[in-house]
Amino acid sequence: MREAAAAFVRDVVRPAVAGWDEAGSYPREAAAASGLTGLFCPTALGGAGIGYPAGMEVFEELGRGDAAFAFSLSMHNAVAAVVAGCDDEELRARWAADLVAGRALGGFSLTEPHAGSDATAITTRARADGGGWRVTGRKAWVSLAGEADLFLVVCKTAGGPGHADVAVLAVDRRAEGVSFPRLYRKAASAFLPIGEMALADAPGTMLVPPGAGMRAALGAIDVARCDIAAIACGLHAEALDIAVRYTREREAFGAPLLALDTMRFTLADVLTDLEAGRLLYARAASLLGTPAGPVAVAHAKRFCPDAALRAAIACSEALGAYGWLEDTPLPRFISLAKMLQVVDGTAEIQRVVIGRELDRMARSGS
Ligand SMILES: Cc1cc2nc3c(=O)[nH]c(=O)nc-3n(C[C@H](O)[C@H](O)[C@H](O)COP(=O)(O)OP(=O)(O)OC[C@H]3O[C@@H](n4cnc5c(N)ncnc54)[C@H](O)[C@@H]3O)c2cc1C
Repeated sequence: MREAAAAFVRDVVRPAVAGWDEAGSYPREAAAASGLTGLFCPTALGGAGIGYPAGMEVFEELGRGDAAFAFSLSMHNAVAAVVAGCDDEELRARWAADLVAGRALGGFSLTEPHAGSDATAITTRARADGGGWRVTGRKAWVSLAGEADLFLVVCKTAGGPGHADVAVLAVDRRAEGVSFPRLYRKAASAFLPIGEMALADAPGTMLVPPGAGMRAALGAIDVARCDIAAIACGLHAEALDIAVRYTREREAFGAPLLALDTMRFTLADVLTDLEAGRLLYARAASLLGTPAGPVAVAHAKRFCPDAALRAAIACSEALGAYGWLEDTPLPRFISLAKMLQVVDGTAEIQRVVIGRELDRMARSGS
């Protein structure tokens, strides 16, 4: 799958990505044809059936092409895996095969206009209605808004503070009461629709029951954070390759730029950060689902996007004025690395998780 992702980036993404914003479209069908829409789903369903460590290597490759597209595939793959593994036979039969094959796309709606990092402050509410459920509220920062076919919506079922009543429901984009009233104008990646989702007594299927919803959502977000760390390493590696190629060719004062110690030292630090980031995401991937997983993931999600941003800036500078041209992906990478710092939990929220671990270590004397 890593080779398939590398070929997809080489043949489909790099040659065309500069035109996606203007065209308002991106190659989701080609991603599906390359097997990138069912990474963590069983082979019996047509999925790749790979584990997290192998999956993260796929996301690193995808990050070399376009981090926003890679992020949308990360979210889709998480939704596909949840639906393919859920207990609701009807939901599975209706959606799993289509999600795995990429005929349908999955989205995840947790954030609300007033509740981002503080996820327990959400107010979207689900109420029981006969044998089913109805959802009312407003979600923000919904990726693939209006485009994904099935959304996993995190909501409360009783009201009141805390997460004791939080559940996850599956909501069909075409259901009555579902609308997308606002799409954001973003600093990059106009091709990818992100915006608000309004739910007005929309029908939903209970996927994770009240009380278990926040834990399930955080479990899915841990996988997504690890994906983001790997995607950041891909962006980082691609920026470094571009800078090394350029500085070996470009001469100044009678020698290649890369012969200058200052240039070498700068790019050496970029490479050390990349090596560190790869170790962090690989370790986190191997610990996902264990008690040590969330802290390992927080280290990777905190470090890799910050390092990718430093790398994108340093590599752009290594190209002098040319690093500012859209002939290279570097200006886009700087903006995308900023996005990776925020999406799926900011660097500060990772520090909150790591800070709690410091407390635990101090208490246990370890
Ligand atoms: C491109 C993109 C796509 C996204 N897609 C989705 C999606 O599909 N579904 C979805 O549900 N969400 C999505 N999000 C939302 C994303 O997860 C949130 O933006 C993120 O969790 C931060 O929330 P916020 O933007 O409301 O910032 P806030 O929570 O308002 O934070 C603002 C600032 O305060 C800091 N801060 C907050 N709390 C603390 C604290 N305790 N200690 C220290 N500092 C703190 C933050 O780090 C940040 O710098 C997306 C975001 C982006 C950028």
